[in-house]
Amino acid sequence: MRSHLCGEVNETLDGQSITLCGWVDRRRDLGGLIFISLRDNAGIIQVVVEPDSPAFADAERLRNEYCVRIKGVVRLRPQSQWNESMATGKIELVADKVELLNASAPIPLLMTDEDGEEVRLRYRYLDLRRPRMQRNMKIRSKLNRAIHNHLDDNGFSEFETPILTKATPEGARDYLVPSRVHPGQFFALPQSPQLFKQLLMMAGMDRYYQIARCFRDEDLRSDRQPEFTQLDMEMSFVDEAGVQSAAEDLLRAVFKDVLDVELPASFPRLTWQEAMEEYGSDKPDLRYPMRLHDVDEHVSHVEFRVFSGPANSDGQRVAALRVPGGAQFSRKQIDGYTAFVARYGARGLAWIKVNDADAGLEGLQSPIAKFLDDKAWNGIAAQTGVQSGDLLFFGAGDWLQTSTFMGHLLVRCGQDLELANQDWAPLWVTDFPMFEWDEESARHTAMHHPFTAPQVASADELEANAGTALSKGYDIVLNGAEIGGGSIRIHKVDMQQAVFKLLGISEEEAEAKFGFLLEALKYGCPPHGGIAFGLDRIAALMAGEASIRDVIAFPKTTTAQCPLTDAPSSIAQAQLDELHIAVKTRSD
Ligand code: ASP
Repeated sequence: MRSHLCGEVNETLDGQSITLCGWVDRRRDLGGLIFISLRDNAGIIQVVVEPDSPAFADAERLRNEYCVRIKGVVRLRPQSQWNESMATGKIELVADKVELLNASAPIPLLMTDEDGEEVRLRYRYLDLRRPRMQRNMKIRSKLNRAIHNHLDDNGFSEFETPILTKATPEGARDYLVPSRVHPGQFFALPQSPQLFKQLLMMAGMDRYYQIARCFRDEDLRSDRQPEFTQLDMEMSFVDEAGVQSAAEDLLRAVFKDVLDVELPASFPRLTWQEAMEEYGSDKPDLRYPMRLHDVDEHVSHVEFRVFSGPANSDGQRVAALRVPGGAQFSRKQIDGYTAFVARYGARGLAWIKVNDADAGLEGLQSPIAKFLDDKAWNGIAAQTGVQSGDLLFFGAGDWLQTSTFMGHLLVRCGQDLELANQDWAPLWVTDFPMFEWDEESARHTAMHHPFTAPQVASADELEANAGTALSKGYDIVLNGAEIGGGSIRIHKVDMQQAVFKLLGISEEEAEAKFGFLLEALKYGCPPHGGIAFGLDRIAALMAGEASIRDVIAFPKTTTAQCPLTDAPSSIAQAQLDELHIAVKTRSD
């Protein structure tokens, strides 16, 4: 039907007759001339219909989003009319035939970024026509292809694993599917392919990958989707470094292929402890050249109890953040940051503006300067490397809470002052605690998942040190987003049993839920480990989008619904009966 794509027509076609198909992005009548912006998957081109053209009457009838075929001659625009912001901005198509392929009802969207999310998702097929979304979907497709190419070239085989399966614990609720043939029994949709990929290693498959859909019924959070996509990988006979170098190679190849970006030759590594101490986050954003400083030793002797109290207490800290150029903040801005950290539980935020770094205490402007002596200030100044024109923020109190709110503050100040000094900052975070203690249920929970190996050699040693044990888990972080996580797995049955026990899973429950895994571990299971990347997040970062919903063709809303198809929806009684399901009413 067409000879070219709209977005691909350029000055080399000057004078040629071509035929294009697409949608009317915009139509303007300018004193007898009609301009049509014609859009297809490759881009937009300007079409001119002159008053004496045989196409004029047909062009007059066109409205936005009409689907058309246009034949015409490519004409180089005079240089003064070049539109540098358009790939096709040096030419236009002078139409001699306009053929209406299909009219459109008036469009219920503005077709701009102003459209609200509900209406965008309700009419997703129209929203996706926009150049921004067409580009996002292409990036995503390119990303998938780059992954397949790289992994196929590096000895990985692709496997599909079941969707109708048994629960895999990844920390969320399961989506369940009732069985018609087994009344009262249910499949769970996989929260990840975790156990199947481990079984594939036991099956001698050596290197597995899958671009896998995962399902997690989580409490609503703006950046989660009930179904999302992982690049899931698993390898046999590897340690942490083996998995990490395969993962780095993959990311480097994919970023080069899709964005022509060179990621560093080796990614920095921080332990979880270091990440929390220095960046107040288990996913530090290393684009910002700022870090937290522990200033406990300099303030432990001061009379200011807000500082000396935490400085002298176990499990507490005083953390300082140097904000380069922050002395320019107004009182109102500082109050804004105080309110910001209060969201993360901070009870206050102390600050010092350094007007003259060479003048000691005299050079400072701060409500707390009067509580400091030379010894304290000189120590703080030397440690933080503060300079004239900088500001120091201080947080004090519980170690984890203080680290966390100061970490949020670091990123916020970095964003506000546009301090990022690199575009892409990947890193590994390692040595996570094996367990977290859950006060409410008074038991350990797995920090990663229950199949992650601890950094101890025996089950006895783990039981004796459960509170402090570290795991062989790792996360990969890019620009402050956790883009993947994995671990070396437990490959010995007694260790797996010990971990289940520490997690409060009884022997009977372990047998009922994971009996197949415990059994498989008995037959010469190889040491193995792997990782899963959040593909939606990686695609969003690549596309420069804040929300993963903008790189998913048909996402759900934040309330886990699809406004387009109206799912989830009620089911006819006959179908419920067939599935042996009775729906509870509120009064039941
Ligand atoms: N299954 C894990 C997850 O979904 C990833 C892994 O350990 O490989 O987070």
